[in-house]
Amino acid sequence: MHKPIAVKYWLLEIIFYAAALALLPEGAAAAQNETFSQQALSPKIIQKIENNSWKVPSPIKLKDLAYLKITYFDFDGKSHTGEMIVHQKVAKEVLEIFQELYRAKFPIEKMKLIDDYGADDDRSMAANNSSAFCVRPLTGEKHGFSRHSYGLAIDINPLQNPYVKGKTVSPPAGKDYLDRTKSRQGMIVKGDVCYNAFVSRGWQWGGEWESLKDYQHFEK
Ligand SMILES: [Zn+2]
Repeated sequence: MHKPIAVKYWLLEIIFYAAALALLPEGAAAAQNETFSQQALSPKIIQKIENNSWKVPSPIKLKDLAYLKITYFDFDGKSHTGEMIVHQKVAKEVLEIFQELYRAKFPIEKMKLIDDYGADDDRSMAANNSSAFCVRPLTGEKHGFSRHSYGLAIDINPLQNPYVKGKTVSPPAGKDYLDRTKSRQGMIVKGDVCYNAFVSRGWQWGGEWESLKDYQHFEK
């Protein structure tokens, strides 16, 4: 009676290892494709952002900025590696935040430097691009720099999370997402994975401001 059972286990073991071997290469490749890295701005990146997202007068020096590569899932569940520039002092935690969003499969449509849209926030928002660093005045104000100018603000999925002040909605197509109780893919709501990833690290959410709502915006 013992022998047949032993043979059975032996066979099961072979089947198990064969299955594990068949699965391993794919899993290993997927892990290799994930990138969460930071580096100083390369000459090529500096050339790209100078007189675009970085311009004089700037409240920050180029050497205080970090260039990040970040893997994220899009709305179809496909992974991509995007790029983002933030203040070097928050680079590590921003990578941690996006690792949390990646693990939770929080969908992000695009993650390109705003320079790909001529450093024009309206164009970047209209393309539903998620981005961070850009020297610009406070939205709707004549004085003072926005936290984006320091690389200390990040906008996520502007279409699903528009900026709302009075009758102004940016991007304009974000009007479809003004009802914040109707939760849809890519929207940020209080207590969700995106909100928690930022707020637990001391970032403020524009969706909780009183005078206006900036649902796409987190700042430190
Ligand atoms: Zn913003």
